[in-house]
Amino acid sequence: MLDPTRFNTIEKPTWCPGCGNFGIQNALKKAFQDLDLEPHQITMVSGIGCSGKIPHWIKLYGYHSLHGRALPAAIGAKLANHNQIVIAEGGDGDGYSEGMGHFIHAVRRNVDMTYIVHSNGVFGLTTGQISPIGIKGFVSSTTPFGSVEQPFQPLALALAAGGTFVARGYVGDIPHLSSLIAAGIKHRGFSFIDVRQICVSFNPEMSYQWYQQKVYKLEDEDYQPNNRIKAMELSFDEGDRIATGVFFKEDRPAYEDELPQLEKEPLILHDLDNIDVKSIMDELI
Ligand code: SF4
Repeated sequence: MLDPTRFNTIEKPTWCPGCGNFGIQNALKKAFQDLDLEPHQITMVSGIGCSGKIPHWIKLYGYHSLHGRALPAAIGAKLANHNQIVIAEGGDGDGYSEGMGHFIHAVRRNVDMTYIVHSNGVFGLTTGQISPIGIKGFVSSTTPFGSVEQPFQPLALALAAGGTFVARGYVGDIPHLSSLIAAGIKHRGFSFIDVRQICVSFNPEMSYQWYQQKVYKLEDEDYQPNNRIKAMELSFDEGDRIATGVFFKEDRPAYEDELPQLEKEPLILHDLDNIDVKSIMDELI
């Protein structure tokens, strides 16, 4: 068995004690361990926010990108070397606000990578302004009289965009979350996992206790994740019960499988020495 501490870093996370990001960090490490992966096989790209610091605290190739821009940078990394396992990370404020356009197009292109969104209902790093999945009535510095907006349903959007692996996890159940991440990494195509993560400092409403009374696992209900319309209906069902697990999964060629340029070998191995770019340069002069 490979050394389970190989993903540890010397630096310790500075997240608030009790933050749900610790659960995602542990679930990722467990998934890597269960899949017998080594640090050099994985590239993690993050956006900006508390979640964006995660590549600093897991030993692998990491790139901390811009707000809402984790996906284009991660897709670039994947297309440069499609032999790498690529994971994009970000918060719901990062990915479902600034990054929304990238999200839709990454899903429909079906690039073979995993996108994990730390959904806690607030912009935690900037002290708790409401974010797109924040609940109606939530009082924050930007909604002093309570939010009047309807929360956004990321799973429904991913399904509508043609997602081939759409799942929801919860940080209060690390073994289950870790199994979802492992399944997402193994899936050939774009795996989207919205993780219900807890911001203990700025979102007292969506707390561990709040989720504990609501979450259930689809596996316990004999649910089959093969019907896109049923999955979409389920994604809107966020009353007294919140489903976790794989909502939908289908096999479809990944984006890079159909690119003739990548057929032989990754782009980074292409021999550039004998390419004559003179005619292109002449056009630009
Ligand atoms: Fe976690 Fe919230 Fe603290 Fe950020 S502000 S580290 S999300 S608890």
